[in-house]
Amino acid sequence: MISIKHLSKSFRNPDGSVITVLKDVNCEIGRGEVISIIGPSGTGKSTLLRAINMLEPPTGGEIRVDGENITAKGYPLHKLRQKMGMVFQGFNLFEHKTVLENIIYAPMRLRHVPEADAREEAMELLRKVGMAQKADVYPSSLSGGQKQRVAIARSLAMHPEVILFDEPTSALDPTMVGEVLSVIRSLSKEGLTMLIVTHEMRFARDVSTRIFFMNEGVIYEDGAPEQIFGHPVRSATKAFVNRIQKLVYEVDSADFDFLQMHTGFNQFCIKYNLPVTADAAYSLVRELLFEHLPDLRPLTVRLTYAELSGETALDFMAEGITASPLPEAARDSLRGRVKQMVEEPTARGFRVKLIL
Ligand code: ADP
Ligand code: MG
Repeated sequence: MISIKHLSKSFRNPDGSVITVLKDVNCEIGRGEVISIIGPSGTGKSTLLRAINMLEPPTGGEIRVDGENITAKGYPLHKLRQKMGMVFQGFNLFEHKTVLENIIYAPMRLRHVPEADAREEAMELLRKVGMAQKADVYPSSLSGGQKQRVAIARSLAMHPEVILFDEPTSALDPTMVGEVLSVIRSLSKEGLTMLIVTHEMRFARDVSTRIFFMNEGVIYEDGAPEQIFGHPVRSATKAFVNRIQKLVYEVDSADFDFLQMHTGFNQFCIKYNLPVTADAAYSLVRELLFEHLPDLRPLTVRLTYAELSGETALDFMAEGITASPLPEAARDSLRGRVKQMVEEPTARGFRVKLIL
């Protein structure tokens, strides 16, 4: 359905220098495919989406949609825009129109749908995204997750064949990410072709037919989710998908600021939407530090979260010891409260790892 050959895009900086953002992008996208585009920031993911719907005309190469060269001079872009919807990170709703008015605007103006029909369909779409109750309110009274669901309904009202999503959940409070992802997930089952730039790796793995890993302006690795997330071929892909987020504290004395640690745990758990609560992790730290290892200082405490597997762990690391510092009573107390406990020597000392 979409065929991209040798696509490139450069920008001229104000000082006259040229930055090449897309170098040589090649891909074929079939009808009904759901493709997640992942990769470090600044590697051209947004630029690629914007080139595909000609918001940002490419510098070189060609894009064909249903066989037609949309990059050709004079190609009627309104035809493309009808086929292709786009959902942005920032929603872009009309603030002075109600939810329903936002949705019926384009179908009435561009598809010339009579108002009664447009309203009826808009209500159907709002029901589909769980927003029918909010049809008559203004966007300013909605949460970010609700705005994004309205933006998706608005895009669907144009009956697109393809929807491009550019980080649809990255501007949202973590508690609202799920409601938007579940709407996108339901669309993926309806045969709509979708390209989704996302940082939500587990979502990408679950909904996609294929993953593009972009790196430095090219599609660096392209494959089924099982390949990209399970058996990536190239080293940069492997490093990216196995990323681990960490929070590290060095507890060196009785004056250590535990209040700050507790706050840090809270923020970390919210930011990455961890499957465990900050309070549970924090109380394990207090127990280990004060009941089981009161004399072992300095002790490095690390909270880690592997984005792809979801594995959350607490590490306690001490230097200069070669055997586990844990007393038997600690093992008894922890057993059953953590998924797994690993005691292992490290290069410079010993680590106790609690997988939560
Ligand atoms: P990503 O979405 O992967 O984070 P982008 O496609 O937004 O990356 O941007 C890739 C690079 O292109 C960045 O270095 C960005 O600064 C640059 N860039 C994007 N748009 C423009 C523009 N209109 N003018 C100049 N540079 C741009
Ligand atoms: Mg981007």
